[in-house]
Amino acid sequence: MSSKDPEQRRKLNEWKAEQRAKAEAELPAPKETLLGLFEELNERLSSEPCDHSLRFTLAWADSKGIDGTGLVEWTRKHGGYCDCEVLGNVPDANPAFGR
Ligand SMILES: [Zn+2]
Repeated sequence: MSSKDPEQRRKLNEWKAEQRAKAEAELPAPKETLLGLFEELNERLSSEPCDHSLRFTLAWADSKGIDGTGLVEWTRKHGGYCDCEVLGNVPDANPAFGR
């Protein structure tokens, strides 16, 4: 079967949409809010190196009134064990962010 087969492509798109919906349902905060976290980390880490903790992530959660425990569980699940990994791995590993 060629990858140009419309039926196969439709199934692939369906699967992708499903993965995305599932990933979106698991987000610890609205997607727009989380995009703000990645921006914040980008900014903070450009002036201060990562100290291999989640201090910026947790400070951000605090300032937004988001439960840090749930947030960290989620970032770890997507390969974010410290601030630079949250920025470097989480959006890429998560279909909710459109990759
Ligand atoms: Zn780091």
